[in-house]
Parts: sequence; C-alpha cells; structure tokens
Amino acid sequence: IFVTLEGGEGTGKTTVIGKLKDYLENRSVPHIVTREPGGIEIAEKIREVILNPSHTAMDPRTEALLYAASRSQHLAEKVEPALAEGKLVLCDRFVDSSLVYQGYARGIGMDEVWSINQFAIHDRMPQLTFYLDIEPEVGLARIAANRNREVNRLDLEDLSFHHKVREGYLQLVERFSDRIVVIDASQTLENVERDIIRSLEERILK
Ligand code: C5P
Ligand code: MG
Repeated sequence: IFVTLEGGEGTGKTTVIGKLKDYLENRSVPHIVTREPGGIEIAEKIREVILNPSHTAMDPRTEALLYAASRSQHLAEKVEPALAEGKLVLCDRFVDSSLVYQGYARGIGMDEVWSINQFAIHDRMPQLTFYLDIEPEVGLARIAANRNREVNRLDLEDLSFHHKVREGYLQLVERFSDRIVVIDASQTLENVERDIIRSLEERILK
C-alpha cells in the first residue's frame, strides 16, 4: 500500500511522519517511511542540484525534469521493492508536489508536468494521500520559528508563491477527491496525527 503526505511549507509533515512511524511500529504493520529523494544517493545528488540556493538561474522545466528523475530513482531503488514485499510505504511528498510547485505555482501547467511524470513513475500512484492544509502565513511563521531548518532555494519565494501552492493543492483535492484526504494542519500536531490515523484506520488498516 502506497500512502503519501503532501502540503506547503510549515505544515508539520516531517514531524507528523515521525509520529506515524511510531504508530505503525506499535501496530506491527510492515512498513517503510521515506521521503523524496529518500536517502538514495543518486536522487540526493539530484536534489542538491535543485535546491542549491545559488542555482537561481534554473529554468522551471529543468527543475521539473530533475524532480521527475529523482522520483524515478527513488521509486526504482526503494519504493517499488518495499511494495513488492507487501509493505506499507509512507512517503513525504510525491508527484502531487510537482504538479503543484512546478506545474501550478511555477506556471508550467499541471498537464505538462503530469506527462513527464508519467514517464518517470509508470503507473505507480498512491492509494491514499493526506494533504496537510494550512494558510501560508501560518506555515511560514512556523518555519521562521524553527532555527534548525535547512535553508533552500524556496526561501527566496514570496508569499504569493505560497498562496499559489495552496491553490494548486486545493485544485488537486477537487479533482482527486477519492484519493486525497484534507487534514487541517492549523491544529496541534497531536490532532493532525489523530486525524491521519483515524483516516488510515478507516480506509486501509481496518
Ligand atoms: O519536503 P520539504 O518541504 O522538505 O521539501 C523541500 C523543499 O523543496 C520545500 O521548500 C518544497 O517546497 C520544495 N519542493 C518543490 N517542488 C517539489 C518538491 C519540493 O519546490 N516538487
Ligand atoms: Mg519537510
């Protein structure tokens, strides 16, 4: 079973995913928790190129292709083998991020970004996606308060970019309402975690 987490900046995805790992361990559900690029050396190297703050000249199409390339490697090396072993794979971001960030917010077009990603992912799509929804102002304020966070090229974007990201996600939610579950990420992390677990239990871990 393939499950993904999506959301803008400062939604608490990374923290929540750590809690979900504890939950899966306690329930003895065979699983892996990963994130793109997932510790896969080739994919990590691609990500360094994408997020390097000095690469301000990167064309959005180049960025989209690099994300797709990194995704393809992460799938081949890590996700597909785990799914083949019958594990639950919980992944921090997947193709929806590209549709939203490169396709919508950077303006390439979701359909265009989808077509290169079809090549990268074959038919692999998550059965279930949690979209952690938050007002960009609130998310960015959380990030500003977190000093341990790594600096990346997205820090150069203004508030309107992050509003576009949210708009893009909300469009995906409408289009794929059977796959994507919206979680109110302005709640405490405990409640975010509770909502996700509740939904996982209803839909997958019955
Ligand atoms: O998952 P995380 O939030 O750590 O992602 C790192 C950065 O990469 C974020 O700033 C995110 O917005 C950005 N990103 C992106 N396009 C993607 C995936 C991630 O711009 N397709
Ligand atoms: Mg994160």
